[in-house]
Amino acid sequence: MTTARPIIVGTGIAGLWTAWRLASEGQAVVLMTKEALADSASAWAQGGIAVAMGPGDSPSQHAADTMAASDGMADPEAVRILTSEGPGRIYELLALGARFDRGPDGRLGFGLEAAHTRARILHAGGDRTGAHLVACLTAVVRTNPLIEIQEHVEVIRVLLHDGRAVGVVALPQGGTSYPMFAPAVILATGGVGQLYEVTTNPRVATADGWALAHQAGADLKDLEFLQFHPTALKLPGVNPAPLVSEAVRGAGAILIDRERRRFALDTDSRGELAPRDVVSRAVAAADAAGGAWLDARAVPDFASAFPGITAILGHYGLDGSRDLLPVAPALHYAMGGIVTDLEGRSSVADLWAVGEVARTGVHGANRLASNSLLEGLVFADRVGRSVGASLETPRAPVPDNLPVDRETDSGADAHCGPLRDEMRRLMTADVGLQRTEASLLHAEQELARLSDETPPAAWRTGNQLRVARLITEAARRRRESRGGHARLDYPPASAAASTKRKEAV
Ligand SMILES: Cc1cc2nc3c(=O)[nH]c(=O)nc-3n(C[C@H](O)[C@H](O)[C@H](O)COP(=O)(O)OP(=O)(O)OC[C@H]3O[C@@H](n4cnc5c(N)ncnc54)[C@H](O)[C@@H]3O)c2cc1C
Repeated sequence: MTTARPIIVGTGIAGLWTAWRLASEGQAVVLMTKEALADSASAWAQGGIAVAMGPGDSPSQHAADTMAASDGMADPEAVRILTSEGPGRIYELLALGARFDRGPDGRLGFGLEAAHTRARILHAGGDRTGAHLVACLTAVVRTNPLIEIQEHVEVIRVLLHDGRAVGVVALPQGGTSYPMFAPAVILATGGVGQLYEVTTNPRVATADGWALAHQAGADLKDLEFLQFHPTALKLPGVNPAPLVSEAVRGAGAILIDRERRRFALDTDSRGELAPRDVVSRAVAAADAAGGAWLDARAVPDFASAFPGITAILGHYGLDGSRDLLPVAPALHYAMGGIVTDLEGRSSVADLWAVGEVARTGVHGANRLASNSLLEGLVFADRVGRSVGASLETPRAPVPDNLPVDRETDSGADAHCGPLRDEMRRLMTADVGLQRTEASLLHAEQELARLSDETPPAAWRTGNQLRVARLITEAARRRRESRGGHARLDYPPASAAASTKRKEAV
């Protein structure tokens, strides 16, 4: 099968916006997704979308907060683009029919979140922002005749010729794979959470984009920088772990240990609203010592303020206004990924990456809350424009006899559940919230063993192990603690200095 249309892989906010941008410029595209269109992390986003449009705010203030959160690692130019182009994308979303929550005066309402110095978080439907945005964009792409949507089609390889991406191998559920040629391939495949035992990420977040790009020879970077969310519901055996948004703590919920003691203030004067990595470590310590709970009983009008979370809690027989909520940290977001330039080009010609799968430089070592949906919009827009412009340059023809194996799903991955469970446990225990040289070495050895035990036909499991090993190697190479990468054997500079000071006294 051939096509002269760019192929976009993934239907989260990044893939949907890229498709719309290209189509709005008259370019036909193919949009593929391995499950249903709404199966994405984007649809689950609770907190909202950060944008400098509120009173007293400015893109430069938003940029300063983003740089501060990144622990000195973000690229200032990427951050400038994110924060200054954000308002334009929100106006476009509004024009497309997105309905953000408004105050009594009819103006857009902006919420405050940890590490933001201004109220700048837009919400839709309270805590259902992602679902609202995805529904809005779904309606847009489904009614655009230039966008062909292929659901339940998994991309299993990027096709290469003469060092360029020339298409993908696509595997429909229950069918046989087929090659699909394209002048450009855009990976918008989201995150990596499912490599970990406890994660907020949906089941589709199996790091496919990183594996596909690595196989294609593209550069990946900053893979060790992973963000853990401190308050996922701790429900043994439930995957993904349901998230209780930071906004609930923002509304007054507190964290307590098994003695019913508020513990977050022990480590940071900002308490429950300290940066995510700080709160995550405090929750993990309380959990290890007997349990950690979120007490939201004093939050006024919990059900109307958090309708989405109330529904999730209800599903598990919990009520935020009545019950203590058992919580534990969970893998939430990947800051690194496929290295791109500021228009989303990877190091392989005609291969683009956008959204959580990409490493644009906007997050550095740690992501500022609610910046990822914005990144999805802003950089997808740039990708759409640059792919569109690139199509004006004709590509060399792809030979008809380019070898492409036909594959079916042999079912081998279904038998590798125990291998993947072991990988997920290892990643959580050894490459998780806190790492050491010894834990990382142990993980490397065990992951190598698991890879050896994986039959070649179980390529999904093999790909996940490949990425798990890349993350572990990156974490071992970085001999410092920074942002989302905490090494117990290399404490942060300020902590090391204070230990030395204490030792000196
Ligand atoms: C519970 C939760 C709450 C969050 N809340 C917020 C928030 O309030 N604000 C915020 O800014 N961020 C939030 N985030 C983070 C944010 O949602 C994500 O970073 C962002 O939505 C990622 O968008 P994306 O388009 O890059 O990927 P995704 O939305 O994850 O979409 C990836 C798509 O790729 C498809 N795919 C993957 N592999 C393949 C393959 N091999 N073949 C075909 N298709 C494939 C998937 O099926 C999916 O459609 C939250 C994340 C979670 C999990």
